[in-house]
Amino acid sequence: MSTSKPWWKQPLRILDYNYLIQVDNYDFREYVKTCKELHANVVHFHPADGNRGGWSEDVFYFRTGLATVQHRDILAEAIPLLHEAGIKVIAYTCGHWFPKRFIDKHPDWWAIRQDGSQVEHLYGDDDTTTCVNTPWRDWAFTLVEDLFSYDIDGMLWDGPIMFLDRGACYCESCKAKFRQQYARDMPAWNRDEKEDWQQLAEFSSSSLRDFYRDSYEIVKKIKPDSCIYLNAGNVGEPSWLVGRGNRGLMPYQDMLMSEGGFMYGRVSDNMFKTTASLKLYETQAGGKPCSVAVSPAFGSWRSHHLSKPEMRVLLAESSFGGNPYAAMWLESGISPAYEGIADVYGFLEKNEAYYEDTRSAANVALFHSLNTVDNYTGLDVPYCDLSGMKAKPAEAIGNFTRSFHGFQEMLERLRVPFNIVDEELIEGGGLAKYDLLIMPNCACTSDALCKWIGDYVANGGTVIADFETSHLDDKGVRRNEIGLADVFGVSSHNETYGPRRWDFVHVCESSADVFSSLSQRFIPAPNYNMRVSATTGEVAAVFGKPLISNITKDYQPSDEPFLVVNRHGSGTSYYIPGTFSQMFAERHVHCFVEIVGGIIDREIKLPVEVSGPPHFINVSVRKQGDNRTLVQLVNYELRPVTEVIRALDLKIKVRTSAQVASVRALRLDKDLAFACSDDGVVISLPELGEFEVLAIDTV
Ligand SMILES: [Zn+2]
Repeated sequence: MSTSKPWWKQPLRILDYNYLIQVDNYDFREYVKTCKELHANVVHFHPADGNRGGWSEDVFYFRTGLATVQHRDILAEAIPLLHEAGIKVIAYTCGHWFPKRFIDKHPDWWAIRQDGSQVEHLYGDDDTTTCVNTPWRDWAFTLVEDLFSYDIDGMLWDGPIMFLDRGACYCESCKAKFRQQYARDMPAWNRDEKEDWQQLAEFSSSSLRDFYRDSYEIVKKIKPDSCIYLNAGNVGEPSWLVGRGNRGLMPYQDMLMSEGGFMYGRVSDNMFKTTASLKLYETQAGGKPCSVAVSPAFGSWRSHHLSKPEMRVLLAESSFGGNPYAAMWLESGISPAYEGIADVYGFLEKNEAYYEDTRSAANVALFHSLNTVDNYTGLDVPYCDLSGMKAKPAEAIGNFTRSFHGFQEMLERLRVPFNIVDEELIEGGGLAKYDLLIMPNCACTSDALCKWIGDYVANGGTVIADFETSHLDDKGVRRNEIGLADVFGVSSHNETYGPRRWDFVHVCESSADVFSSLSQRFIPAPNYNMRVSATTGEVAAVFGKPLISNITKDYQPSDEPFLVVNRHGSGTSYYIPGTFSQMFAERHVHCFVEIVGGIIDREIKLPVEVSGPPHFINVSVRKQGDNRTLVQLVNYELRPVTEVIRALDLKIKVRTSAQVASVRALRLDKDLAFACSDDGVVISLPELGEFEVLAIDTV
């Protein structure tokens, strides 16, 4: 590692190796040996035996005045060994999970609901939690100071979080703080009272920010060159759920880390989570490093693991633009998943130079609208292995979560490299580098955001949007006219039509070229649509009139637009008022991929195009300095579970105006043949296992 910048801005290979099953007699020379064998350069070190129902005053395995039982001092034993081996030590610190035997002694620390009941049952029947606004915070800060009396290199806060979703917190400390902040009593917990709810949500998030701000200041005073981060919010997680708004917490952490590689089942059943996580974290980290935590755990059966190819895929996805984190447990013994960690971390160590200071070169942006996540009715709350957070599918007609992942899957199927953007990036002028913006039912948009997007399209950008995009303001209040009416070239009647059962879409003859990529004449209609009328836009296709039976010969077009194409300044908007991407996520209507692919072909040139076998392959592209392009291919064909289906004879076209000097396949560990063309280079890749990284050097 070079010394010119903070150590955590170098490529990290983080290992969370949990030895707590043998904490009383474990030999930490074995621990260091394992870390070296797995090529880790950072460890999450567990200084307390949290396996006994959470953190408590009787489970600390380091010296602190808070301890009531004197155990072994494993921090003192392990730190010198790890440092001698060149490994950084991050103290894992639990701030959200405590056994009742401990917290019951401190009723003024409890997170409680309006009716006075305590929040409990986080992972079982004998645990509970605390509130950050109570005097518990002083106990936590003492703990932090005591941890940093050791030569640790940083800390990971696993919580605290807030519990608004579970009806808390209405403790006396919260009530007093709320009164001070808003000059009124805390309102009742009721999601239907919008203004009250927004105040409760903001109070919850700001209370959490206050805690992490104060903790950060304490640590940085003791050790300025330490790396601090917390277990952050996931893709699609509303900030009111547990108060973790990632953007708002970034000033108080040095890296954004979250559990985007915790799969809770087979990887092939949730193929897009890890990629989406990395791309969102990279944006939200705003220039700081990010990390995707990957667990080999198969669902709740923590000691049964994913297969070796599954681990390789997850870690490859996590490392291209971020820092991978892998979890392990001593009790699991040798597992194929651990061999996968050793393999990928060994690869990353060997090729570390290719992973330093890279930046995405994608020209397609997929919008993860946080205002929609926070304020739209149609949101599936994702499952998360934190304090018993449950998945909650939405019952509303329009759904942001499914629309987002629907468009993501279409881009992945088209092998389009893309980034994920949010409001803060767009409102900071961040769209300028993109040729295409996709808005998946981004219903809640501020006036300012709509102006940024209008200017982006007017200046030559392309936008694809669907269903209720910009129909509500950023707080979720319905507008009289949609925010992007001028850009889309439509006026909305603010009415939903549907459900359609078996209707089709009719292409307008004058716009047949927009649909030239279709392999079939009939296009299934999305189940619902917003009723709109074109103003300046051209209707390229319409919904059919409702069919009274799916066995019929009476196909008639209606006047309800399915696709409106609008020139706006120098750019073009493609607005589909139907639940297009949501229906793709639910039904995988393949011609929807062809429609999006056709628009992409018409409007933009991709930096990388991959052809060859029909494998499902994720394509990402990054730049390093001025003369190197890096292309990562991740093979999603994991249905056989213990093996990946190898892809043979791929052709990769990389667009560049510079002269290509060499192409190296880092995973195959060899130089590849390439042929130059007018606008770039075509590379032949003989075979693709789980992943490959191509380094294209130009002169
Ligand atoms: Zn409270």
